[in-house]
Amino acid sequence: MNVITNHMPTAELQALDAAHHMHPFSTQNDLAARGARVITQANGCFLRDSEGAEILDAMAGLWCVNIGYGREELAEAAARQMKELPYYNTFFMTTHIPAIALAAKLAELAPGDLNHVFYAGSGSEANDTNIRMVRTYWAEKGQPERNVLLARWNGYHGSSMGSGSLGGMVGIHSQGGLPIPDIHHIGQPNWWAEGGSMSEEEFGLMRARELEEKILEIGPERVGAFIAEPVQGAGGVIVAPDSYWPEIQRIVDKYGILLIADEVICGFGRTGNWFGSQTLGIRPHIMTIAKGLSSGYQPIGGSIVCDEVAGVLAACEFNHGYTYSGHPVACAVALENLRILEEEGIIDRVREETGPYLKEKFESLADHPMVGEVKIVGMMGSLALTPHKDSRATFASEAGTVGYMVRERCFANNLIMRHVGDRMIISPPLVISKEEIDLLIDRARLSLDEGM
Ligand code: PLP
Repeated sequence: MNVITNHMPTAELQALDAAHHMHPFSTQNDLAARGARVITQANGCFLRDSEGAEILDAMAGLWCVNIGYGREELAEAAARQMKELPYYNTFFMTTHIPAIALAAKLAELAPGDLNHVFYAGSGSEANDTNIRMVRTYWAEKGQPERNVLLARWNGYHGSSMGSGSLGGMVGIHSQGGLPIPDIHHIGQPNWWAEGGSMSEEEFGLMRARELEEKILEIGPERVGAFIAEPVQGAGGVIVAPDSYWPEIQRIVDKYGILLIADEVICGFGRTGNWFGSQTLGIRPHIMTIAKGLSSGYQPIGGSIVCDEVAGVLAACEFNHGYTYSGHPVACAVALENLRILEEEGIIDRVREETGPYLKEKFESLADHPMVGEVKIVGMMGSLALTPHKDSRATFASEAGTVGYMVRERCFANNLIMRHVGDRMIISPPLVISKEEIDLLIDRARLSLDEGM
């Protein structure tokens, strides 16, 4: 077989890719017809493709490359760890330095008494862990009937059987027999699409109170936990009205339900603090982490767990874990990533300098005839596309068609911006400069003009 390198013609690479590589969340026949763009290199906020184009990555990969591409220190940390101890597990009374050091660091960074880390290889795995952890916790407390987890429609928590069930994505539920039993969903706080004639604040309260209604419907003695993203990411960067989270916190406190904050996107600086829970004033018992933990340089995720839950679990054998839980190379890379985030003051810059700058520039797109709502927190933002700003109408064509067209124009203009239905979303590397923000906005505006 020929050695496949980036010196091969793009068309050949694309043909091999379509023939042998099944892509996630893709229609394989489209790839065969059109050919995927082959990304060969990356540096800072820019990708390069096999044709030599420089593409501004306003999605930080999949919301994960928080410190930007091309940081040698992370490659060196991985190489060092591979030479010293490339693999060992922590299953049977063994441990290793990177797993210890990363867990201790995460306990230091996490708010409140979130002091205990259970490692996974991804966000999906971590949320699967959370389902079993919550149910085991309540069973150990003598309340095994408390096995129901509540979540939100249009939330995203992964695509495994468990995490895909927690998520409220209808497209995921429609394939493969999801959701698993005893997971129920409430409405999302998406005022633009669903708020009708209510004010944002009224709608936020109404949606939060759906949690209480659901708890009462199922029976408080049966509900173990509620999971939510501080800011819904994959659902379209939905920022809840200000009234929402305080009411959710009141309800989970009232019924003694565990609150799981899925920080897979919001964690590690994306909202301008270490964790989205801090930005939004939430007090979770468990946080799901992944993505920005290693800036995507290594696959790693986990759950950061409070003293009470970890204390109860400590008395039993928790029959759960993954071969790559606490993988030493992934832990070493994550530690180096956290060092860079901290020592270079990247999160402070997001909060105080580049975040406010991005907000001002991103909000300036509100004057575009096709843009309705503009939402942004730190370095994650969305534009709702609409034919009539005042009525908050959606395009009459099939949902998502206009968003898809604008995304295609962005792609052609060397800007990676995603669409979720008719919402255009961004989540750039946290190290993006003001000049790069200007470029992002220029290319986005051009693409919107061309998408009209
Ligand atoms: N949770 C949230 C909030 C996510 O956005 C994602 C992925 O986008 C996941 C969980 C799943 O993470 P992974 O893709 O690493 O399994």
